[in-house]
Amino acid sequence: MSVRNIVMDGDPILRKRCHKVEKFDARLHSILDDMKDTMLHANGVGLAGPQIGILRRICVVLDTLNNDRIIELINPEVIASSGEQTDGEGCLSFPGKYGYVTRPDVVTVRAQDRNGEWFEVTGEHLTARAFLHEIDHLDGHVFIEKVSEFIETE
Ligand code: ZN
Repeated sequence: MSVRNIVMDGDPILRKRCHKVEKFDARLHSILDDMKDTMLHANGVGLAGPQIGILRRICVVLDTLNNDRIIELINPEVIASSGEQTDGEGCLSFPGKYGYVTRPDVVTVRAQDRNGEWFEVTGEHLTARAFLHEIDHLDGHVFIEKVSEFIETE
């Protein structure tokens, strides 16, 4: 396992759509392990494939509301969402940039695990926000597109 470099704003890879994962092999497992290391090392709550230069539909989310378990999502899709929350949001690829983003408050995602098994997971508040933020990355979307107001930081 190792910490990888994070792709920064300005790199066109952040605006590309990712490909579906078809092979659940040792290479995928090692990428996921590196993504977890990279996210934790950068004190993030989520990281998506394009952020380490990999255009695959994979992301990891730190579920801070459930003992910091790390959820791996492969080929994730949102199957239900409800409520609304507006809160500050940032991204490891946009250091120093924060802004208010309105998103659903509760989100259920269907995804595959590292062995290809399908599962469903529901997150709320920050975890729901992280799911949606990371899945946006897989479609080439970044949070600044959705910011209603940027937050000034010194
Ligand atoms: Zn991000």
